Amino acid sequence: MKSWLLHGPRDLRLEERPRPEPGPGEIVLRVLSCGICRTDLHEVLGEIPLPVLPIVPGHQIVGEVAEVGRGAARFRINDRAGVPWLHHACGGCGHCRTGRENLCDGARFAGLHAEGGFAEFHRVHEAFAHPLPSDRDPVLLAPLLCGGAIGYRAYRIAGLTEGPRTVGLWGFGSSAHQLLQIAKAKGHTVFVFTRGDRHRGLALALGADWAGPPGEAPPAPLDAGIVFAPVGALMIEGLKALKKGGRMVSAGIHMDDLPTFPYRLLWEERTLTSVANVTRQDVADLLAVASGMDLNVEVERFAFEELPRALERLEMGEVRGSAVLLAP
Ligand SMILES: [Zn+2]
Ligand SMILES: [Zn+2]
Repeated sequence: MKSWLLHGPRDLRLEERPRPEPGPGEIVLRVLSCGICRTDLHEVLGEIPLPVLPIVPGHQIVGEVAEVGRGAARFRINDRAGVPWLHHACGGCGHCRTGRENLCDGARFAGLHAEGGFAEFHRVHEAFAHPLPSDRDPVLLAPLLCGGAIGYRAYRIAGLTEGPRTVGLWGFGSSAHQLLQIAKAKGHTVFVFTRGDRHRGLALALGADWAGPPGEAPPAPLDAGIVFAPVGALMIEGLKALKKGGRMVSAGIHMDDLPTFPYRLLWEERTLTSVANVTRQDVADLLAVASGMDLNVEVERFAFEELPRALERLEMGEVRGSAVLLAP
């Protein structure tokens, strides 16, 4: 099968590989589409450690079941299924036993420890695959699996479930353009900070109450802020705009250093925190929220051979909404 293999930083090659076979409890998906996440870009640039090389990246995998392993009973041949970043959790560690499998000590992530979705086929244990509707465009489902799910976890960590609140979003890509619509549907006021008129225009078209460049002060103090751009200084910029008791959440796996800041910014129970990975429940909850509303996922589609060009556009901040790689 055709696969994109990462051999090391900036060394991504299109190669032929043997098609995977399902082990006990596993399924093999014929990949229909795979979302391209900023984490894929961090991997390709070598900005996060690469524990397994070579590796097929890609962790927003939409496919249909092509083969079912012994003992696997959750899916039938041709069922639509999705695979997110969390590819395996141990189930027995302290984090898993307290509903925090996203922090599992033995977690394995798709496209980092396990072969990912930038390939014709993908193998996964059925317990870590998610049922998806087969009547939807598979390209529009892919960005929900990480961009959507991470954004939704950040939304909960930011304490926005009780509304209405005022929230700032820094960076406006796959996650933020989905979360903006969810937050608006739940009655919150949303301010978007992003570079470029095009991204600000999309934010306003999707319902943002205000959009401006990073560095500009929001029109009102914030209950919470979520930073999707890998820029540590934005966490402190947001902190300055928080009300008492407000929270700043970093939603990315990689961020450059946070500048030092005076303690008075953190005083009055303001919080700086991060979101790491997602649980299966996060993904299931986001899928339910998305199907219950008219979530408008903006996508740029890339042919399978165009992965390097897609990553380049992502690096330049040029992708409008989410980038999705089509099956070969
Ligand atoms: Zn991701
Ligand atoms: Zn565990």
